[in-house]
Amino acid sequence: MALRRRASRRLIRPGVPLSRRSFLTGGILGGAGLVLAPALVGCASSSREDQLVALADGLTADLLAGDEAGFRAWFSNDTLAERWAAGLPAYSEVRFAARGFDDAGARLRVTWRAPRDTAAAEHDLGVVVTDSGAGALRLASVRTTPRPVWVDEAITVTAREATCLLAGDGVPVAEWLDAADLAVGDVAAQCPQLLAVGWDRSLVVVVPARLASFADALGVGQDAYRDVAAVSWAEQPADTGPMRVYVNYPLCRDLAAIDRRVLLAHEATHVATRRTLTRAPHWLSEGLAERVGLVASPGHRSRNADLARRFARAATSSPDLPADEEFEPGAGTDLATVYALSEQAVAALFARAGDEAAATFCRAAGGGEAWPIPAATVTAWYRERLADL
Ligand SMILES: [Zn+2]
Repeated sequence: MALRRRASRRLIRPGVPLSRRSFLTGGILGGAGLVLAPALVGCASSSREDQLVALADGLTADLLAGDEAGFRAWFSNDTLAERWAAGLPAYSEVRFAARGFDDAGARLRVTWRAPRDTAAAEHDLGVVVTDSGAGALRLASVRTTPRPVWVDEAITVTAREATCLLAGDGVPVAEWLDAADLAVGDVAAQCPQLLAVGWDRSLVVVVPARLASFADALGVGQDAYRDVAAVSWAEQPADTGPMRVYVNYPLCRDLAAIDRRVLLAHEATHVATRRTLTRAPHWLSEGLAERVGLVASPGHRSRNADLARRFARAATSSPDLPADEEFEPGAGTDLATVYALSEQAVAALFARAGDEAAATFCRAAGGGEAWPIPAATVTAWYRERLADL
Protein backbone atom coordinates (compact mmCIF):
# COMPACT_ATOMS: atom_id res chain seq x y z
CA MET A 1 0.00 0.00 0.00
CA ALA A 2 1.21 3.42 -0.90
CA LEU A 3 1.36 5.11 2.49
CA ARG A 4 1.83 2.22 4.83
CA ARG A 5 5.21 1.93 6.46
CA ARG A 6 6.33 -1.48 7.49
CA ALA A 7 7.69 -1.90 10.95
CA SER A 8 8.86 -5.22 12.24
CA ARG A 9 9.79 -5.29 15.83
CA ARG A 10 11.83 -7.60 17.92
CA LEU A 11 10.90 -7.67 21.53
CA ILE A 12 13.07 -8.31 24.48
CA ARG A 13 10.19 -8.60 26.89
CA PRO A 14 6.73 -9.86 26.15
CA GLY A 15 3.45 -8.08 26.61
CA VAL A 16 4.15 -4.90 24.74
CA PRO A 17 1.15 -2.90 23.63
CA LEU A 18 1.10 -1.86 20.01
CA SER A 19 0.13 1.58 18.99
CA ARG A 20 -1.71 2.40 15.82
CA ARG A 21 0.18 4.85 13.73
CA SER A 22 -1.59 8.01 12.77
CA PHE A 23 -0.56 9.93 9.73
CA LEU A 24 -0.67 13.63 9.29
CA THR A 25 -1.92 14.85 6.00
CA GLY A 26 0.31 17.16 4.04
CA GLY A 27 -2.63 19.24 2.91
CA ILE A 28 -2.38 22.98 2.77
CA LEU A 29 -5.23 24.63 4.59
CA GLY A 30 -6.55 28.14 4.08
CA GLY A 31 -7.18 28.82 7.77
CA ALA A 32 -8.15 32.36 8.62
CA GLY A 33 -8.49 33.33 4.97
CA LEU A 34 -11.96 31.86 4.82
CA VAL A 35 -13.63 35.02 6.16
CA LEU A 36 -11.58 37.41 4.06
CA ALA A 37 -12.13 38.56 0.54
CA PRO A 38 -10.47 36.23 -2.00
CA ALA A 39 -8.05 38.93 -3.21
CA LEU A 40 -6.78 39.55 0.30
CA VAL A 41 -6.38 35.82 0.96
CA GLY A 42 -4.29 35.42 -2.14
CA CYS A 43 -2.13 38.40 -1.34
CA ALA A 44 -1.54 37.61 2.33
CA SER A 45 -0.96 33.91 1.92
CA SER A 46 1.32 34.23 -1.10
CA SER A 47 3.68 36.52 0.76
CA ARG A 48 3.90 34.16 3.70
CA GLU A 49 4.31 31.24 1.34
CA ASP A 50 7.11 33.11 -0.38
CA GLN A 51 8.78 33.64 2.96
CA LEU A 52 8.57 29.92 3.67
CA VAL A 53 10.08 29.16 0.27
CA ALA A 54 12.88 31.59 1.04
CA LEU A 55 13.50 29.84 4.39
CA ALA A 56 13.63 26.39 2.78
CA ASP A 57 15.83 27.53 -0.09
CA GLY A 58 18.10 29.48 2.25
CA LEU A 59 18.61 26.51 4.55
CA THR A 60 19.43 24.29 1.59
CA ALA A 61 21.74 26.75 -0.16
CA ASP A 62 23.72 27.74 2.93
CA LEU A 63 24.17 24.14 3.97
CA LEU A 64 25.32 23.19 0.47
CA ALA A 65 27.72 26.13 0.38
CA GLY A 66 29.12 25.27 3.80
CA ASP A 67 28.10 28.71 5.06
CA GLU A 68 27.56 27.86 8.72
CA ALA A 69 26.87 31.44 9.83
CA GLY A 70 24.37 31.88 7.02
CA PHE A 71 22.71 28.55 7.84
CA ARG A 72 22.42 29.38 11.53
CA ALA A 73 20.89 32.75 10.74
CA TRP A 74 17.74 30.96 9.50
CA PHE A 75 16.94 29.81 13.05
CA SER A 76 15.38 31.56 16.03
CA ASN A 77 16.41 28.62 18.23
CA ASP A 78 20.15 28.50 18.93
CA THR A 79 20.17 24.91 20.15
CA LEU A 80 18.51 23.67 16.99
CA ALA A 81 20.75 25.85 14.82
CA GLU A 82 23.87 24.52 16.45
CA ARG A 83 22.78 20.88 16.34
CA TRP A 84 21.75 20.98 12.69
CA ALA A 85 24.75 23.02 11.56
CA ALA A 86 27.06 20.49 13.19
CA GLY A 87 25.14 17.37 12.22
CA LEU A 88 23.70 17.81 8.74
CA PRO A 89 26.99 17.93 6.80
CA ALA A 90 27.34 14.19 7.57
CA TYR A 91 24.49 13.44 5.15
CA SER A 92 24.16 13.78 1.42
CA GLU A 93 21.26 14.98 -0.72
CA VAL A 94 20.01 17.25 2.08
CA ARG A 95 17.27 19.52 0.79
CA PHE A 96 14.53 21.55 2.40
CA ALA A 97 11.34 22.36 0.52
CA ALA A 98 8.39 24.55 1.49
CA ARG A 99 5.13 22.63 1.87
CA GLY A 100 2.84 25.50 2.75
CA PHE A 101 0.82 25.94 5.91
CA ASP A 102 -1.67 23.82 7.81
CA ASP A 103 -3.91 24.96 10.64
CA ALA A 104 -1.09 24.48 13.15
CA GLY A 105 1.69 26.22 11.28
CA ALA A 106 4.24 25.84 8.51
CA ARG A 107 5.36 22.65 6.84
CA LEU A 108 8.75 21.76 5.43
CA ARG A 109 9.89 18.66 3.62
CA VAL A 110 13.43 17.58 4.35
CA THR A 111 15.29 15.04 2.23
CA TRP A 112 18.44 13.36 3.55
CA ARG A 113 20.58 10.35 2.88
CA ALA A 114 22.93 8.65 5.33
CA PRO A 115 26.03 6.77 4.16
CA ARG A 116 25.03 3.20 3.03
CA ASP A 117 21.39 4.23 2.64
CA THR A 118 19.98 2.77 -0.57
CA ALA A 119 18.14 6.03 -1.29
CA ALA A 120 17.33 9.37 0.27
CA ALA A 121 14.62 9.52 2.93
CA GLU A 122 11.92 12.19 3.02
CA HIS A 123 10.28 13.65 6.10
CA ASP A 124 7.30 15.98 5.87
CA LEU A 125 7.56 18.08 8.99
CA GLY A 126 5.26 20.46 10.74
CA VAL A 127 7.47 23.25 12.04
CA VAL A 128 7.11 26.36 14.13
CA VAL A 129 8.40 29.51 12.45
CA THR A 130 8.80 32.99 13.82
CA ASP A 131 8.91 36.35 12.11
CA SER A 132 12.32 37.96 12.04
CA GLY A 133 10.73 41.41 11.87
CA ALA A 134 12.43 41.98 8.55
CA GLY A 135 9.98 40.13 6.35
CA ALA A 136 11.64 36.77 6.79
CA LEU A 137 10.76 33.57 8.65
CA ARG A 138 13.03 31.82 11.12
CA LEU A 139 12.84 28.18 12.17
CA ALA A 140 12.03 27.72 15.86
CA SER A 141 11.19 24.03 16.29
CA VAL A 142 9.75 20.87 14.78
CA ARG A 143 6.27 20.04 16.05
CA THR A 144 5.39 16.73 14.36
CA THR A 145 6.60 13.14 14.20
CA PRO A 146 7.95 10.98 12.64
CA ARG A 147 11.00 13.10 12.21
CA PRO A 148 14.72 12.68 11.51
CA VAL A 149 16.68 11.45 14.51
CA TRP A 150 19.02 14.45 14.22
CA VAL A 151 16.17 16.82 15.03
CA ASP A 152 16.27 15.90 18.70
CA GLU A 153 19.79 14.70 19.36
CA ALA A 154 23.36 15.35 18.35
CA ILE A 155 24.08 12.32 16.18
CA THR A 156 27.47 10.88 15.28
CA VAL A 157 27.58 9.25 11.85
CA THR A 158 30.15 6.51 11.33
CA ALA A 159 30.33 4.39 8.19
CA ARG A 160 32.18 1.20 7.43
CA GLU A 161 32.32 -0.74 4.18
CA ALA A 162 28.83 -2.25 4.48
CA THR A 163 27.37 -0.61 7.54
CA CYS A 164 26.63 2.81 8.97
CA LEU A 165 25.74 3.81 12.50
CA LEU A 166 23.85 6.93 13.49
CA ALA A 167 24.57 7.16 17.20
CA GLY A 168 23.38 9.44 19.96
CA ASP A 169 25.54 10.78 22.73
CA GLY A 170 27.19 8.04 24.80
CA VAL A 171 26.31 5.16 22.48
CA PRO A 172 29.40 2.95 22.03
CA VAL A 173 29.93 3.25 18.28
CA ALA A 174 32.46 0.48 17.69
CA GLU A 175 30.42 -2.08 19.63
CA TRP A 176 27.29 -1.44 17.61
CA LEU A 177 29.15 -1.29 14.30
CA ASP A 178 30.86 -4.59 15.12
CA ALA A 179 27.45 -6.10 15.80
CA ALA A 180 26.08 -4.64 12.55
CA ASP A 181 28.98 -6.07 10.54
CA LEU A 182 28.48 -9.51 12.08
CA ALA A 183 24.72 -9.30 11.53
CA VAL A 184 25.20 -8.53 7.84
CA GLY A 185 27.51 -11.55 7.61
CA ASP A 186 24.96 -13.78 9.35
CA VAL A 187 22.16 -12.73 7.03
CA ALA A 188 24.33 -12.97 3.91
CA ALA A 189 25.32 -16.50 4.90
CA GLN A 190 22.01 -17.79 6.19
CA CYS A 191 19.17 -16.02 4.38
CA PRO A 192 18.17 -17.86 1.19
CA GLN A 193 19.39 -15.89 -1.84
CA LEU A 194 15.99 -16.24 -3.43
CA LEU A 195 14.57 -14.16 -0.59
CA ALA A 196 17.28 -11.49 -0.34
CA VAL A 197 16.66 -10.24 -3.87
CA GLY A 198 17.79 -6.65 -4.31
CA TRP A 199 19.61 -6.47 -0.96
CA ASP A 200 23.03 -4.87 -1.37
CA ARG A 201 24.30 -6.35 1.90
CA SER A 202 24.41 -2.98 3.58
CA LEU A 203 22.81 -1.98 6.86
CA VAL A 204 22.09 1.40 8.40
CA VAL A 205 21.51 1.30 12.16
CA VAL A 206 20.11 4.26 14.09
CA VAL A 207 20.71 4.31 17.84
CA PRO A 208 19.50 7.52 19.49
CA ALA A 209 20.44 7.83 23.15
CA ARG A 210 16.94 8.52 24.45
CA LEU A 211 13.64 6.66 24.28
CA ALA A 212 11.85 9.86 23.30
CA SER A 213 14.05 10.31 20.22
CA PHE A 214 13.58 6.65 19.25
CA ALA A 215 9.79 7.02 19.51
CA ASP A 216 9.71 10.40 17.75
CA ALA A 217 11.86 9.14 14.87
CA LEU A 218 9.22 6.46 14.26
CA GLY A 219 6.21 8.61 15.13
CA VAL A 220 5.03 6.25 17.87
CA GLY A 221 4.20 6.66 21.55
CA GLN A 222 7.00 6.15 24.07
CA ASP A 223 4.88 3.95 26.32
CA ALA A 224 3.94 1.65 23.49
CA TYR A 225 7.55 1.16 22.40
CA ARG A 226 9.30 1.21 25.77
CA ASP A 227 9.86 -2.57 25.63
CA VAL A 228 10.51 -2.83 21.89
CA ALA A 229 14.21 -3.44 21.39
CA ALA A 230 14.49 -2.59 17.70
CA VAL A 231 12.43 -1.83 14.64
CA SER A 232 13.20 -2.23 10.95
CA TRP A 233 11.64 0.77 9.34
CA ALA A 234 10.97 1.74 5.74
CA GLU A 235 11.33 5.48 5.44
CA GLN A 236 9.31 7.64 3.09
CA PRO A 237 8.87 7.93 0.18
CA ALA A 238 6.81 4.75 0.19
CA ASP A 239 8.42 1.81 -1.61
CA THR A 240 11.57 3.72 -2.58
CA GLY A 241 12.77 5.11 0.74
CA PRO A 242 15.65 3.41 2.55
CA MET A 243 14.98 0.77 5.20
CA ARG A 244 16.88 1.37 8.42
CA VAL A 245 17.07 -0.38 11.76
CA TYR A 246 16.18 1.75 14.79
CA VAL A 247 17.38 0.59 18.21
CA ASN A 248 15.81 1.48 21.57
CA TYR A 249 19.12 2.17 23.30
CA PRO A 250 17.90 2.63 26.90
CA LEU A 251 16.49 -0.90 26.67
CA CYS A 252 19.54 -2.33 24.89
CA ARG A 253 22.31 -0.48 26.70
CA ASP A 254 23.46 -3.52 28.69
CA LEU A 255 23.11 -6.18 26.01
CA ALA A 256 25.99 -8.59 25.62
CA ALA A 257 27.77 -8.62 22.25
CA ILE A 258 25.94 -11.75 21.12
CA ASP A 259 22.58 -10.18 22.02
CA ARG A 260 23.39 -7.09 19.93
CA ARG A 261 24.42 -9.28 17.02
CA VAL A 262 21.28 -11.41 17.19
CA LEU A 263 19.05 -8.36 17.54
CA LEU A 264 20.55 -6.69 14.47
CA ALA A 265 20.62 -9.92 12.44
CA HIS A 266 16.90 -10.39 13.08
CA GLU A 267 16.18 -6.86 11.87
CA ALA A 268 18.67 -7.12 9.00
CA THR A 269 16.71 -10.16 7.76
CA HIS A 270 13.66 -7.91 7.40
CA VAL A 271 15.80 -5.40 5.50
CA ALA A 272 17.19 -8.13 3.22
CA THR A 273 13.75 -9.61 2.47
CA ARG A 274 11.75 -6.39 2.21
CA ARG A 275 11.14 -6.93 -1.51
CA THR A 276 10.14 -10.58 -1.31
CA LEU A 277 8.16 -10.86 1.93
CA THR A 278 5.99 -7.78 1.49
CA ARG A 279 2.77 -9.65 2.09
CA ALA A 280 3.97 -12.59 4.12
CA PRO A 281 1.99 -13.70 7.15
CA HIS A 282 3.75 -12.65 10.35
CA TRP A 283 4.68 -16.20 11.37
CA LEU A 284 6.66 -16.49 8.14
CA SER A 285 8.51 -13.14 8.17
CA GLU A 286 9.18 -13.19 11.92
CA GLY A 287 9.97 -16.90 11.96
CA LEU A 288 12.48 -16.45 9.15
CA ALA A 289 14.03 -13.45 10.90
CA GLU A 290 14.42 -15.55 14.05
CA ARG A 291 15.83 -18.52 12.15
CA VAL A 292 18.35 -16.34 10.31
CA GLY A 293 19.01 -13.93 13.16
CA LEU A 294 19.74 -16.55 15.78
CA VAL A 295 22.18 -18.52 13.64
CA ALA A 296 25.19 -17.25 15.57
CA SER A 297 23.79 -18.07 19.00
CA PRO A 298 23.03 -21.62 20.17
CA GLY A 299 21.95 -20.06 23.48
CA HIS A 300 19.22 -17.95 21.88
CA ARG A 301 18.10 -20.90 19.77
CA SER A 302 17.75 -23.17 22.74
CA ARG A 303 15.87 -20.53 24.74
CA ASN A 304 13.44 -20.15 21.86
CA ALA A 305 13.08 -23.94 21.65
CA ASP A 306 12.34 -24.04 25.40
CA LEU A 307 9.56 -21.50 25.00
CA ALA A 308 8.06 -23.45 22.10
CA ARG A 309 8.37 -26.73 24.02
CA ARG A 310 6.63 -25.29 27.07
CA PHE A 311 3.84 -23.98 24.87
CA ALA A 312 3.44 -27.34 23.10
CA ARG A 313 3.31 -29.31 26.37
CA ALA A 314 0.71 -26.97 27.83
CA ALA A 315 -1.46 -26.93 24.70
CA THR A 316 -4.85 -28.57 25.10
CA SER A 317 -5.51 -28.83 21.36
CA SER A 318 -3.43 -29.11 18.18
CA PRO A 319 -1.80 -25.72 17.63
CA ASP A 320 -2.29 -23.81 14.40
CA LEU A 321 0.34 -21.62 12.76
CA PRO A 322 0.50 -18.35 14.73
CA ALA A 323 -2.10 -15.94 13.35
CA ASP A 324 -1.22 -12.34 12.59
CA GLU A 325 -3.43 -11.24 15.50
CA GLU A 326 -1.24 -13.19 17.94
CA PHE A 327 1.54 -10.70 17.28
CA GLU A 328 -0.72 -8.07 18.81
CA PRO A 329 -0.78 -7.64 22.58
CA GLY A 330 -3.59 -9.12 24.60
CA ALA A 331 -3.98 -12.09 22.28
CA GLY A 332 -3.37 -14.54 25.11
CA THR A 333 0.08 -15.84 24.19
CA ASP A 334 3.14 -13.86 25.16
CA LEU A 335 5.02 -12.38 22.25
CA ALA A 336 8.35 -14.05 22.96
CA THR A 337 6.56 -17.40 22.67
CA VAL A 338 4.83 -16.36 19.45
CA TYR A 339 8.23 -15.50 17.95
CA ALA A 340 9.65 -18.80 19.16
CA LEU A 341 6.71 -20.73 17.68
CA SER A 342 7.12 -18.88 14.39
CA GLU A 343 10.76 -19.92 14.27
CA GLN A 344 9.71 -23.55 14.74
CA ALA A 345 7.12 -23.25 11.97
CA VAL A 346 9.75 -21.92 9.55
CA ALA A 347 12.30 -24.50 10.69
CA ALA A 348 9.76 -27.27 10.07
CA LEU A 349 9.03 -25.88 6.61
CA PHE A 350 12.70 -25.86 5.59
CA ALA A 351 13.41 -29.27 7.15
CA ARG A 352 10.46 -31.02 5.50
CA ALA A 353 10.24 -29.25 2.12
CA GLY A 354 13.98 -28.78 1.58
CA ASP A 355 15.74 -25.44 1.21
CA GLU A 356 14.77 -24.77 -2.39
CA ALA A 357 11.07 -25.63 -2.12
CA ALA A 358 10.85 -23.80 1.21
CA ALA A 359 12.37 -20.64 -0.29
CA THR A 360 9.97 -20.89 -3.22
CA PHE A 361 7.12 -21.19 -0.72
CA CYS A 362 8.34 -18.10 1.15
CA ARG A 363 8.50 -16.10 -2.06
CA ALA A 364 5.00 -17.07 -3.12
CA ALA A 365 3.47 -16.49 0.32
CA GLY A 366 5.50 -13.30 0.71
CA GLY A 367 4.13 -12.03 -2.58
CA GLY A 368 0.55 -12.73 -1.57
CA GLU A 369 0.22 -15.67 -4.00
CA ALA A 370 -1.39 -19.04 -3.34
CA TRP A 371 0.81 -21.24 -1.18
CA PRO A 372 2.61 -23.83 -3.32
CA ILE A 373 2.46 -26.21 -0.35
CA PRO A 374 -1.03 -26.62 1.16
CA ALA A 375 -1.65 -24.92 4.49
CA ALA A 376 -2.71 -28.26 5.97
CA THR A 377 0.69 -29.75 5.11
CA VAL A 378 2.66 -26.79 6.51
CA THR A 379 0.54 -26.94 9.68
CA ALA A 380 1.05 -30.71 10.02
CA TRP A 381 4.82 -30.29 9.72
CA TYR A 382 4.70 -27.57 12.37
CA ARG A 383 2.69 -29.74 14.77
CA GLU A 384 5.03 -32.69 14.28
CA ARG A 385 8.03 -30.51 15.02
CA LEU A 386 6.46 -29.14 18.18
CA ALA A 387 5.61 -32.66 19.31
CA ASP A 388 9.24 -33.70 18.78
CA LEU A 389 10.76 -30.84 20.77
ZN1 LIG B 1 10.94 -8.94 13.34
